[in-house]
Amino acid sequence: MQTREQRAAYMRAFLAQRRENGICTHCGKPLTDLSRPIHPECAAQKNASRQVNRKRRNKEGTCSECEEPRYKGTLLCRRHWTIQRDARVKLVEERRTQGLCTRCGFHPHSGNAEYCAECFLKLLCHKLKWERSRWVELLALLDKQNRRCPYSGRLLLIGDNASIDHKIPLDRGGTNDLTNLQWVDYHVNIMKWYRTDEEFLADLYQISRFLFTKD
Ligand SMILES: [Zn+2]
Ligand SMILES: [Zn+2]
Ligand SMILES: [Zn+2]
Repeated sequence: MQTREQRAAYMRAFLAQRRENGICTHCGKPLTDLSRPIHPECAAQKNASRQVNRKRRNKEGTCSECEEPRYKGTLLCRRHWTIQRDARVKLVEERRTQGLCTRCGFHPHSGNAEYCAECFLKLLCHKLKWERSRWVELLALLDKQNRRCPYSGRLLLIGDNASIDHKIPLDRGGTNDLTNLQWVDYHVNIMKWYRTDEEFLADLYQISRFLFTKD
């Protein structure tokens, strides 16, 4: 009889093999887009069936992975909770040492971040209260700026110095609308602080005039 751990190890090796061969981890058919280990439609299908099971177990108040009762304050039984926590810690550590995004595990780190550019932008979407799928719009905005800071001209790198700025700050009536956003060098963004675009430029003008044209 195989133990649970043996079965899990077998499954991991099996999936790793598929990944290596460019085969969808779900259906086993060849992938056309190698940037993901699963067909988009397979991912959707897998997700849908998981959701159905989760919903049912949620209603029954059992672990969302099995039929056991829940461990206090979590959605999982004690066994699954422990397994998931340990696996998560191990996985993150492995990905970190391999230079892979600790979130998706698929793309390399971007800049100094432990995330890839895509995951970084998806997290940013969350902060902006956007749908995660809109991360491409943030990337397009960066490209539209030629990946440069509009104030300093510095090259912007996601996960390093690229930070999103609200032209009109949120607490001064600005919105999270794309038209109110721009990519700005992180240090410049700190200097800009609560100022609008115009106020910041006026300050910069005064500073540079004072410093460089005194004579
Ligand atoms: Zn597939
Ligand atoms: Zn369980
Ligand atoms: Zn990622």
